[in-house]
Amino acid sequence: AYVTASVGIADADRLHDAIREADTAMYHAKSLGAARYAFFDESLRARATSAIETATALRGAIRRGELEVYYQPIIETTSRTTVVYEALLRWNWQGRVRTPNEFIPIAESTNLIKEIGEWVLRTAMSDLVTLRSDGQDVTMSVNVSPMQLRDDSLPVIVGRLLDTYGLHGADLALEITESVLIDDMGTAKSVLDRLAAMGVLIVLDDFGIGYSSLSRLRAMPIALLKIDKSFVHQIGTSESDTQLIRAIVAMASALPVATVAEGVETEEQAAIIEALECRFAQGFLFGRPAPVAHWLLESAETRAGR
Ligand code: C2E
Ligand code: MG
Ligand code: MG
Repeated sequence: AYVTASVGIADADRLHDAIREADTAMYHAKSLGAARYAFFDESLRARATSAIETATALRGAIRRGELEVYYQPIIETTSRTTVVYEALLRWNWQGRVRTPNEFIPIAESTNLIKEIGEWVLRTAMSDLVTLRSDGQDVTMSVNVSPMQLRDDSLPVIVGRLLDTYGLHGADLALEITESVLIDDMGTAKSVLDRLAAMGVLIVLDDFGIGYSSLSRLRAMPIALLKIDKSFVHQIGTSESDTQLIRAIVAMASALPVATVAEGVETEEQAAIIEALECRFAQGFLFGRPAPVAHWLLESAETRAGR
């Protein structure tokens, strides 16, 4: 392990203003990454205020029914049928639909992520039951924050919810990011091992953009790798990125884990993904994230069309 410092710099007339402003600047420096510095200015004050407002509003979002889970299909490349839905959280706030990047970091820094994460799990399982009773033969994949994996009650929470909805561990997948493999391996590993023992599929999201080593990857009970969309988007523009995807698929099959290509937007990308024998794919080409009602309607239309 090594230590880094984040530095905030402010210039104010009074000492307590200088300390407060330097503190705000230091948090901004931290948000830029490790070992950075930042100067205080008025825009940072505005930003800090809006983060506090957002956190306050988010605290009541579940109770007010403002949170909603959208679902995006993951298809099998050979048949192009939907086999999994990924749960993607949305927040309807002040007349606008907010995406996770706008509020998950705030939920994480205020400890709200535990409550929100549990709400997402419950909602996704309940909607899975609805989709199945509609005749769809699918499973559910839910994103979990590194903070949720640091809490060893997660397997208990998941087990209780599975029981409530009459589901099995294998009906559920949990998506984690590479950062989990880098910091704090200990708790995360025991939590993931317990979940995997329940049959829950562990999925490594956004693979290829982090820094996890292959040995750490092998130490974790990972069943599926999602190839980050930044690689998929390079298809056609750069031969070397197609080679990179080929290498990731080859490495994954040696581990052995299956692969999902994320962010597939064009038929050209889909064709290459399929030729590389990537088993699953997800992206706007196959369907955008949408409320469960949309997927119920779509399957009704498909049946009517037949
Ligand atoms: P992710 O898990 O990698 O999800 C994929 C993101 O890519 C989604 O963004 C999705 O809308 C977007 N996407 C899907 N297909 C395409 C495509 O073809 N092209 C492009 N350009 N984008 C595509 P979204 O919904 O904004 O979610 C962003 C991230 O927020 C997710 O990335 C996930 O890491 C996180 N997230 C979402 N829901 C939750 C949640 O319930 N809990 C936690 N902790 N994180 C969540
Ligand atoms: Mg994901
Ligand atoms: Mg991803």
